[in-house]
Amino acid sequence: MPEGSYLYCDVSLPVPLDQPFTYSLPDTLRHRVKPGSRILVPFGPRKLTGVILRCHDDAPNVETRDALRLLDSEPVLSSELLALGRWISGYYCAPLGDVLRGMLPLASEIRRGKLYTLTDAGRDAARQLLLDSSPDDPVAKVLQMLERRPLSAAYLAKTMPLADKVIRALERKRFIVAEDVQTERDPLRAPADRLRVELAPATGGNAEAKLNKPERELRAFLELHPGSHNLRQLEDMVKNASPAARSLARKGIVTLKPELVAANAGPIRVPHALNPMQQAAFEQISAAITAGRFQTFLLHGVTGSGKTEVYLTAIETALAAGRGALLLVPEIALTPQMAGQFFSRFGNHVAILHSAFTDVERTDQWRRIQSGAARVVVGTRSGVFAPVRDLGLIVVDEEHDGSYKQEETPRYNGRDVAIVRAQGAGACVVLGSATPSLESRYNAEKGKYTLLELPGRIEARPMPKVELIDMRQEFLETRKQETFSRKLVEALGARVENGEQTIVLLNRRGFSSFVACRACGERVQCINCSLTLTYHKRDRRLLCHYCGYAEKVPSACPKCQSDKIYFLGVGSERVEEELHRAFPAARVARLDRDTVTGKRQYETILHEFREGNFDILAGTQMIAKGHDIPNVTLVGVVSADIGLGMPDFRAAERTFQLLTQVAGRAGRGSVPGIVLVQTINPDHYAVRLAAAQDYQAFYEKELNFRRMMMYPPFSAMANVLVRSEKKEMAMRMSAELGFLLNPPPEKLRIMGPAEAPVPRLKNEYRYQFLVKAASRKALNELLQQIRNYAVQHKWGATALVIDVDPLTLM
Ligand code: ADP
Ligand code: ZN
Ligand code: ZN
Repeated sequence: MPEGSYLYCDVSLPVPLDQPFTYSLPDTLRHRVKPGSRILVPFGPRKLTGVILRCHDDAPNVETRDALRLLDSEPVLSSELLALGRWISGYYCAPLGDVLRGMLPLASEIRRGKLYTLTDAGRDAARQLLLDSSPDDPVAKVLQMLERRPLSAAYLAKTMPLADKVIRALERKRFIVAEDVQTERDPLRAPADRLRVELAPATGGNAEAKLNKPERELRAFLELHPGSHNLRQLEDMVKNASPAARSLARKGIVTLKPELVAANAGPIRVPHALNPMQQAAFEQISAAITAGRFQTFLLHGVTGSGKTEVYLTAIETALAAGRGALLLVPEIALTPQMAGQFFSRFGNHVAILHSAFTDVERTDQWRRIQSGAARVVVGTRSGVFAPVRDLGLIVVDEEHDGSYKQEETPRYNGRDVAIVRAQGAGACVVLGSATPSLESRYNAEKGKYTLLELPGRIEARPMPKVELIDMRQEFLETRKQETFSRKLVEALGARVENGEQTIVLLNRRGFSSFVACRACGERVQCINCSLTLTYHKRDRRLLCHYCGYAEKVPSACPKCQSDKIYFLGVGSERVEEELHRAFPAARVARLDRDTVTGKRQYETILHEFREGNFDILAGTQMIAKGHDIPNVTLVGVVSADIGLGMPDFRAAERTFQLLTQVAGRAGRGSVPGIVLVQTINPDHYAVRLAAAQDYQAFYEKELNFRRMMMYPPFSAMANVLVRSEKKEMAMRMSAELGFLLNPPPEKLRIMGPAEAPVPRLKNEYRYQFLVKAASRKALNELLQQIRNYAVQHKWGATALVIDVDPLTLM
């Protein structure tokens, strides 16, 4: 087919104005442009990267500017994915430009490559501010830094808190402009543990004379030990291996390649023959795959029922039918063990997409998928956009998991996008969970999804025995407010004695969740948010878990100067400390966002625990998910009540899910497990039914509540939030929306405007509307109307948040 030549192209750009922009094409680009490729274009004083939507010869009736540079010779988004992007943009009311940017593997590269420079007005302002303002004024600080040289957003964010706010304010005033710089990141700059080094094939000539000592040593080592080596591991054997490898790579003597996860994958597992329950589920899925039909299955299998084996066998069927497969897992679940299972089963056909990867790794994986070299993709949320060819199956593991929802624009749910994508591709979808979301289970009840059940554990292992411990009663009997009940202490002691392992859950990090004054009752709050600060003992600081603000622990009450300060509310850090104190001989590890700052640490701690190097693993919900550790015979829940108090209609569902999931960690080996759940709400249905492990009863009860209250799945819901650093501004915007929405259109129920449950967050005041709709179409029309209003009235880019199918209402 002859390539076309076009005069113009329409480009989608990541700007609030949600429309394509037309550019003229210079001679050099006319023959090369294709929809789905990225292109660099001028936009006002900036240069932006956008995605080509259409190439054509229809002269627009306004003057056009020339596009600058084509970034891809072959489209990075297929027409299938472009269509999916359009659907997301419409359904979630998000600008198409933002959606498409998020779908690209190189998104982070582009975002990081943003460089800010001063405009003339900015230069003047910088000079003026230098005279007028205090040296601490963040605006003045940024302007002065930029006077010296252009700086990246990433750099600014590192230098000061809330830098993004300052940047946005300065952009609005046109004091600074952003430019997208396109730099493919240099693979040589990846950290050593992410690189493999190998001698380059037959280098011509002897470059001996030009090599320094470390370079010579490294080369000698590689000659003696052929094959590729992880650079970090080499560092232990060859002095200065890392700099030497990088300079040798520049000289073409060695090659550096991204480390693949396979390198540290867990033990290879042989496929199991499916048991009859697994087989029955598999056969239905396989029939749909073979027929090439779009069909959604809900695989509801209790913890330890062997869902993964069903996924793997289904993927084999898809491959055998000549089609590709995609498996989505929650952010935290993608460990080397998980990856290892896939590598041992599907070898080089597997690509892994994980947000913790470096850009180089992610780009590399992405290109392998696009080229068709990798036909099985395992990924987290954004993996749903992987350019898998001829997609035949999408599996969404732990479909109820909140990490599938993106909590920034575009606020899509990866699970729901997966279903839409499968529909477009004629693929089959399997949603798997031990605790399906109410929405999915209800869809199965209505016949929209096909329900498949695995009601028992593998090899008829018993479900763990769950016992509730009423902490009010405990207090009455002991007259002491202890973190652990006598029963839990006893059970823990017995496990440590027997060499069995225990998981202790407390879903709240830090040492004490708030600090208060006994004299005046004041609770110490964040200066940017209307939330209490959490005490972190190791750092000796009070920390805001929402904006990162930190301050020293006050020695006197900031309000009344009394020194009667006390610490309330137990967090995981304190649980760990108390475990150490109660069981000095036990080896205790902690897993939460404070001990885990990178993916590697998470894996290391889990790996050590699995290997038996710890007796007790304490932590937040991170420890509740998907791990299969046979030697765990006791699970202790310090408090089942933490999530129940949240001002959110999903509080009960989330509590039920968390308790059921963590209970499922017990007794997965040959020794049966017990679960001890401490609570002050033993009669709450979420707690009671999780203890009984009775999903069906919980589902029915919760469904009734949702029906009565018109909550999803009985309505389509959206959360509309307005926010501003100025309270009056936030109030004014919410009042304007209130006016616009009055009277509410038919089929819609609007609650608000009201202060958001967290009225101030990250230095912004927040008001919200909750919209419940009997009709999705009516909801969407209303939201589009709201968005148009905000654009017309030039609200700032972040003043309005529209969250469709919200998971949290905070
Ligand atoms: P789930 O994800 O449903 O909680 P898993 O998939 O982790 O359960 O399976 C639990 C354990 O049972 C795993 O160790 C797995 O290897 C094993 N397993 C799965 N299917 C079979 C089978 N058919 N026969 C024997 N063991 C199996
Ligand atoms: Zn006080
Ligand atoms: Zn804060």
